[in-house]
This record gives sequence, structure tokens and C-alpha cells, in this order.
Amino acid sequence: MTDVRFLPVEKMNQAGFNELLAPYRFVNTKSNRDLTAVKIHPGEEGNSSYIPPSLVKMVVDALELPYRRTFLTDTTVLYGGRRMTAPDYVSLAWDHGFRMPDLPPFIVADGLAGTDEFRVALPPQCETKIARLAAALGRTDNAVMISHFKGHLLAGFGGSIKHLGMGWAAKAGKLYQHSSVMPYVKEDKCTFCKACIAVCGSSAIETLESTVRINEQKCTGCGDCIQRCPFGAIRVSWNQEAHSFISRMVEYALGASMATTIPVYVNFLINISPDCDCMKNEGPPIVNDIGVVACSDPVAIDQACLDLVTEAIPREGNAKAGTDKFLQIRPDRDGREQLRIGEEIGLGNIEYRLVKI
Ligand code: SF4
Ligand code: SF4
Repeated sequence: MTDVRFLPVEKMNQAGFNELLAPYRFVNTKSNRDLTAVKIHPGEEGNSSYIPPSLVKMVVDALELPYRRTFLTDTTVLYGGRRMTAPDYVSLAWDHGFRMPDLPPFIVADGLAGTDEFRVALPPQCETKIARLAAALGRTDNAVMISHFKGHLLAGFGGSIKHLGMGWAAKAGKLYQHSSVMPYVKEDKCTFCKACIAVCGSSAIETLESTVRINEQKCTGCGDCIQRCPFGAIRVSWNQEAHSFISRMVEYALGASMATTIPVYVNFLINISPDCDCMKNEGPPIVNDIGVVACSDPVAIDQACLDLVTEAIPREGNAKAGTDKFLQIRPDRDGREQLRIGEEIGLGNIEYRLVKI
């Protein structure tokens, strides 16, 4: 049974982090020449629930990561905004305080536009054959996952598993996970500039009289057109069937865990909002801050987080202590499916022992 180490919120200072993360400390266990990625989510513009730089720094310092071989990282997203291309994303991360010299540099893992990939063949128990992950993952020796545990529109809740599966996917991998829908063109936004046609390697974008249309028979879901459209006219519909989304996301999580060594997952149980850090308005926290947990198993840590949030007394009176609050918010999105599938395909185990610091 895996230990999930738990630091309560009142002990969240450097001494507390040092004790929490002592079993995973890098010094003497990893080569000084190793390249180490610290996977974070620097927050969408307007979001306020992302894990702040001061707490990321405490984790980096507690693990004694060598600054000159370590980088903070995340991948670009499918939708418009400041996280769609690397230059804009780096400047957003800078605006949110993820910057040198206090922290290692923030580098976007999937290239300038989200198309730099590293492909991992998945084992036979997965329906997905190849995971299309961020190129940087294939070049790192180790990764530390720092995740925010909170609600999520499609996955029910998001923690280490979601951060691994979606967070390390290149644009094509993200689109695949969402691919019970294809991208579509919002005609009132389209200026008929035809820039998207040139980037589509599948000749899937056809011209109409004054706009373009995506041919679903030809589209491979690579996502290149989404990032190319200067007017944000190519969109993805997010309202998709939960099961296929969750199972693909968990299979991608397995791919990411196979691509590099991940000695520790760190989940923060603070600002536990109904929606995720990709949202401009994530909503008020559903319970008071709980603390931070660390573990070597992404399934065990998410199970422990779900149990801690379930036990917590809700801030507003729409849920009860002892109930799955995420399921109450979105009855059609059972996040526990992530844990079940994760165990089934060998990503980790739900059994754990909580060790309070
Ligand atoms: S790039 Fe965007 S605006 Fe230009 S034709 Fe394609 S969808 Fe329309
Ligand atoms: S997602 Fe890729 S294949 Fe599909 S229309 Fe866009 S560029 Fe073409």
C-alpha cells in the first residue's frame, strides 16, 4: 500500500514542505546532470485559483532541485487566449509571477504552437495505441508533478491524473482526447482569410461562398488549424460524452508516466473551486483549504484527495460532509472513473495509507 503524505494547511511553510517531501528529495538520488521538469499550471488569464509561485518555490526548494538543470513547464491549449502559443504563454506565466531568479525558467513543453511532439506507444490494455505528448517530456530525465485538486467540467475533478494526461499532451493529443467532436468553424467569426487552409495537411478545410467548413471525413484532429486561425473562428465543442473523454485522458496519463521518471506527485488542496485553472471564473471554493499531499502514485494521491474533500464540511450549504461534492455539482461527470480506469490499466492503485505530518 502506498503512503500518501499529508501536510495540513496550517503547516504549509518551508519547514513543513521540507518534512513532507523528505522521502522524495533529489539530492544524492539523482544525477546533477539530470534535466528535471516541474509540471505546473500557471493559470489562465483572469483565473485566481492556480497554485501560486511562492508555493511552487517551496516545493522546488524542499526537493533540492538543481536550478540550472530544472525548468517549470506546461503545454499550450486548444482554445483562444494567452495559453495558445508559447510566446504569449511565457508572458502570461511571467505576469503570474513564475519567473527567474526566484524560480527556474518557465518553458513551454510542446513548442511554439503546440505541435512539437514526442510519441509513446501504449500497452495493449489501452484502446489508444499512441500517445502524442509534448516533445520536452521525451527529453527530460525526471518530472515533478505539481497539481491543483479541484472540480472539472469534463472530468468531474482534476488532480494528478488529469494533469498528467491532458497536461502533457501536445495539441494533437488534446484534440484526440476531446475527439468525440471535431473542430468546427464559427462562421460569424470567420473573415475568410483562408490561413487555415494552408496549414491543413489533410486537405480537410473546404471553401464555401464566404467562409470555410471542416470536412469531418478528412479531418485527423491534429489541431493545427485551431492555433493558426488569427480570429479564433475555429472552435472545439466541449460538451462531449464523459466516458470516452475520461478513458482517453487516463490512457494518456499512463503514456506520460511511461515517458519519464516521476518520483513524486504533489497535489494542493487549496482554493478547491468547482471549475479548473483554465477558467477565467473558476467559482468560489466549495470547502475550506485542506493542505497539500505528496505520493509516488498518481491514482492513490487522487483517491486520497477525493476522500479528503468528501470528508470536508462544505462552505456553502448545498452539499454535506461525507458526500462526493464534485458529483453533486455535476451528476453526469463521475470523476471516480479516472481512478477505476487508472487502476485497471496499471497507472496506479487506489489503496493508500494517509501519513499526517
Ligand atoms: S483562418 Fe480562421 S478566419 Fe481565416 S478562413 Fe480559416 S477559419 Fe476563417
Ligand atoms: S484539425 Fe488538422 S486535419 Fe482537421 S481541419 Fe484542422 S488542420 Fe485539418
